[in-house]
Amino acid sequence: MNRPQRITVLGATGSIGLSTLDVIARHPERYQAFALTGFTRLAELERLCLHHRPRFAVVPDAGAARQLQTTLSAAGLPTRVLVGEQGLCEVAGHPDVDAVMAAIVGAAGLKPTLAAVEAGKRVLLANKEALVMSGALFMQAVRRSGAVLLPIDSEHNAIFQCLPQDYVRGLGAVGVRRILLTASGGPFRETPLERLPDVSPEQACAHPNWSMGRKISVDSASMMNKGLELIEACWLFDARPAQVEVVIHPQSVIHSLVDYVDGSVLAQLGNPDMRTPIAYALAWPERIDSGVSALDLFSVARLDFQAPDEQRFPCLRLARQAAEEGGSAPAMLNAANEVAVAAFLERRIRFTEIASIIDEVLNREVSAAVETLDSVLEADRRAREAACRWLARAGR
Ligand code: NAD
Ligand code: MG
Repeated sequence: MNRPQRITVLGATGSIGLSTLDVIARHPERYQAFALTGFTRLAELERLCLHHRPRFAVVPDAGAARQLQTTLSAAGLPTRVLVGEQGLCEVAGHPDVDAVMAAIVGAAGLKPTLAAVEAGKRVLLANKEALVMSGALFMQAVRRSGAVLLPIDSEHNAIFQCLPQDYVRGLGAVGVRRILLTASGGPFRETPLERLPDVSPEQACAHPNWSMGRKISVDSASMMNKGLELIEACWLFDARPAQVEVVIHPQSVIHSLVDYVDGSVLAQLGNPDMRTPIAYALAWPERIDSGVSALDLFSVARLDFQAPDEQRFPCLRLARQAAEEGGSAPAMLNAANEVAVAAFLERRIRFTEIASIIDEVLNREVSAAVETLDSVLEADRRAREAACRWLARAGR
């Protein structure tokens, strides 16, 4: 293909969206922003549109659309501004799009990400919640449409890099024993357990190694992020939950490992900067400059590993439970977590109550089979209601 590839960036104003646009801007001959979407930071979206001159922009409501359309048209841009979930799905599945970066956070990204999958696009998947919620349906849609699904999550991108190209025949067939998912352990890895109830949203969002959006930062602090990633790994690589082991590695230099039956363990290393997995997925199977500096092993000096402590990180246990239960359990886990994290960020609950809410929702609601998107959305809705009941009962 000689013309630049046209890229839709869902969630362009977020941490992953901005890193994606940084990589795209380094290679104007290869990539062009086709559509950019934003939800809250609309001044940022306007700035990005003026810089990248996309064919479409998507905002949450008609008022915001009129305002952005007026500014962009006055600046002489051909950009058309679309609205809401329908607009997101339109730019995700548009026939002129080559690749879609799915970087909306949470369940809000499910339908647009599925629209990209169903249109058979190259889908760069950062929005892990979409896959966690709808795993079986999502992977069926990938197979049916011929979409090329490339993981952006640094761990899954690392695993993808460490697997042979024909791993799609099954992990057993290519000699994989285990997948080792690395985790930094987040900001509370060594906080005395009795202080955990009193940690603040600011402390939870101050990740030692990665700079990320607020929701995933809290998930990293509770290790629910690793739990969601465990479920994500099972779907992406057709693994059983028991084949995925979590390893705490505080330096965040090894992004994950694959353990083969002959005793070989392959790892992918690099500085903790999401532009590496983004560049890899954009250019795969080629490699391009991402702007990330070379890894200096002498300054890293040492690599440490620990087993995770489930008393400190009960969310990890809950996620494994949901992974093993299957059906609608992962969608309910995700929904309860989204409600709990939002309540924590609004200072309505304590950090340790995030796990209490999810535990109650998972253990009171019955998991059902999920054969349609509606049943996924129904499980999501039920779990959100159950989590809100917890909040109401506790007077929060
Ligand atoms: P972020 O909060 O920085 O950005 C989220 C983006 O989603 C923003 O553009 C926002 O406008 C948009 N958005 C939020 N709510 C929306 C809604 N209801 N409708 C439409 N758009 C909405 O988050 P992030 O850190 O960039 O993470 C994005 C996704 O990537 C998450 O699923 C996260 O788990 C995943 N991820 C992020 C990182 C990272 O380093 N930041 C690493 C791995 C995976
Ligand atoms: Mg990750």
